[in-house]
Amino acid sequence: MRDRIPPLPSRDPPVANAAIDQGAQYFLWVAGDPVVDFVNTVRLRHHGGVELLRVPSDLDAWLSTAFGTTSRPSTQDDLIAARSLREAVDQCLLTATGRATVAPDALTHLNQHMAQTPLVWDGERFTRAPATTNAHALSRLATDTATLLEHRAHHIRLCDGPDCSLRLVDASRARPRRWCSMAACGNRTKALRHRSRSTQPDRD
Ligand SMILES: [Zn+2]
Repeated sequence: MRDRIPPLPSRDPPVANAAIDQGAQYFLWVAGDPVVDFVNTVRLRHHGGVELLRVPSDLDAWLSTAFGTTSRPSTQDDLIAARSLREAVDQCLLTATGRATVAPDALTHLNQHMAQTPLVWDGERFTRAPATTNAHALSRLATDTATLLEHRAHHIRLCDGPDCSLRLVDASRARPRRWCSMAACGNRTKALRHRSRSTQPDRD
């Protein structure tokens, strides 16, 4: 089935279930919002999914890129919590695009994570606790998800690329964003369209 897997915006990820213990090299930062990039740590969802957060160090790599987190190394439990939050976020993204109905469990999950980072007054201004621990980083992700869903839900899209499952935020005003990457899915879609036109039989 390898030939059915489409090319991707960066290096091809390992095929599903391949024996590989490091997924961090395949992270993408193309969605337009780190929350959505986080959901995109599962690639090829239409093909059963390729998990990029395979081991706790993958989570550390993602969090440190997103938040500069310097906490203790993640544990297996941290990894399970992160994946669980990610799928709850994705449920909400799909709800925002009309592809799913709202899942109360997903909302509860998000709210529980949000409660991990209370707003505090530091004497001069209000601030949220910095994302220096895994729990705070996941909480920050949940809070950022809430902000995205509250203010920009109508900008959330799924890539139009054939078989591509990447989620993205369309922030463009002039031209709607349809693909995760023009270089990958955009060009591939155009090539497929061109091929299908040129192989259609003449009708006269
Ligand atoms: Zn795509």
